[in-house]
Amino acid sequence: MQNDLKVDVAIVGGGFTGLSTAYHLKRAEPDLNVALLESDVIGFGASGRNGGFNMTLFGLTLSITAFRFGKSRAKEAHLYMERAVDLLRDLVDELNIDCDYEHTGFLRVATSEKYKKRLLHEIELAHKLGLTEIDWLDKSQTREQVASPQYLGAWWEPRCGILNPAKLSWGWREIIEKQGVQIFENTPVMEIQRENRSIRLITPKGVITADKVVLATNAYSHMISQMKRKQIPVWTHIVLTEPLTDTHFEQIGWQNRQGIEDARNLVHYYRLTSDNRLLMGGRDVSTSYGADMEKDLNEKTFAGLENDVRDIFPPLKDIKFTHQWGGPVSVTLDMAPAMGYLGDERMIYSVGCMGHGVSLTHLNGRTLADLALERKSDLTDTFFVNRKIIPVPPEPIRNLVSRAVLGYMHMEDKLFDPKSDRNKKL
Ligand SMILES: Cc1cc2nc3c(=O)[nH]c(=O)nc-3n(C[C@H](O)[C@H](O)[C@H](O)COP(=O)(O)OP(=O)(O)OC[C@H]3O[C@@H](n4cnc5c(N)ncnc54)[C@H](O)[C@@H]3O)c2cc1C
Repeated sequence: MQNDLKVDVAIVGGGFTGLSTAYHLKRAEPDLNVALLESDVIGFGASGRNGGFNMTLFGLTLSITAFRFGKSRAKEAHLYMERAVDLLRDLVDELNIDCDYEHTGFLRVATSEKYKKRLLHEIELAHKLGLTEIDWLDKSQTREQVASPQYLGAWWEPRCGILNPAKLSWGWREIIEKQGVQIFENTPVMEIQRENRSIRLITPKGVITADKVVLATNAYSHMISQMKRKQIPVWTHIVLTEPLTDTHFEQIGWQNRQGIEDARNLVHYYRLTSDNRLLMGGRDVSTSYGADMEKDLNEKTFAGLENDVRDIFPPLKDIKFTHQWGGPVSVTLDMAPAMGYLGDERMIYSVGCMGHGVSLTHLNGRTLADLALERKSDLTDTFFVNRKIIPVPPEPIRNLVSRAVLGYMHMEDKLFDPKSDRNKKL
């Protein structure tokens, strides 16, 4: 951005949240003047580097959501997520977005007796809430699909899919540009000034004046003074193998290419890419102190993940790893998403998608567009819109709290699977 500009709506952040908000605003009001400002390039944040699971998980688990918000809201959250998964799949289809979408379904595998019990309990709760399309596969049914000696059964959800998130981000860029959204990359918003009638966004080379502002800054939100207390960034990391061979597939199955997660607190997520590489992420997370956002690389986690691939799939013991990366997700103190107005109805925000925002951000974009247009809808009535957020404490307490929560999650994972190599610190 080189000059000053006046628009109806300015969106800060070029990830799925910002892209989907822009799309839904222009779809609802084609004449609206919309600008999207991204400090780096479109898809630079979590949206361009995630695992690409289009899935229904809200927050940490269904039972934690039920404990925190009550059963009826846990059901509402899951139904919102189902709608989000379907919306994303339908948009990819309708708009012909080239992002290697595969409708594979999703397995959450049990790798110890205690995790099996946890998953069976989750499925029982889901069924009690009247949720459908979630089933239990026993040990042999699971291993028939994907042959790992670790698997004792799995939560099976056929609704879900996998995609290439960077391609999806670039696809969105093209679509909203065609709709007439003005996109400014390499344009960080450094300061936000509220005036009587409008809001001024200060960037290095120009000022944007907007009637409405949508903050789609996710894990970077605490860098904006008005959002300091809403969320903290937490980093998750990924490794990628060379393409698997036909022999590998004969040994491990996985013909139906499902996205897979395990049932740990510090979850592993893994899938096949369109060129048959195995992508595995998770195992541990990194936290930071204050404004430090330089945690994309973690050698210990990368080495641990490579070990875990070999451990879960012994026939891949000689597989080579070709790529490693990481990125920040946005975590609220109660580990659930939140959207709403900030101060007054001119400024709108979204945070807390955790590691499960691919589908969620797409439906949230529609909700945020309704909020920006001040249109009441079933989406804006959702319980996590304008909900109370537990404020994040300032440093050093923020760091102590995140370490304590992480320590607890690690300890529980050890108790749930004491023999597993996946709990070993390398
Ligand atoms: C490694 C990894 C794996 C994941 N795997 C999955 C998965 O498989 N499935 C799933 O559902 N979810 C997954 N997630 C989570 C998911 O990617 C995110 O929830 C989702 O992409 C968040 O989208 P967003 O648009 O809200 O945020 P982001 O994509 O992070 O976008 C925010 C953007 O705002 C920009 N920005 C920030 N501050 C400013 C500023 N001041 N001025 C201008 N621009 C600014 C940033 O540069 C960034 O591009 C994963 C995340 C990571 C990191």
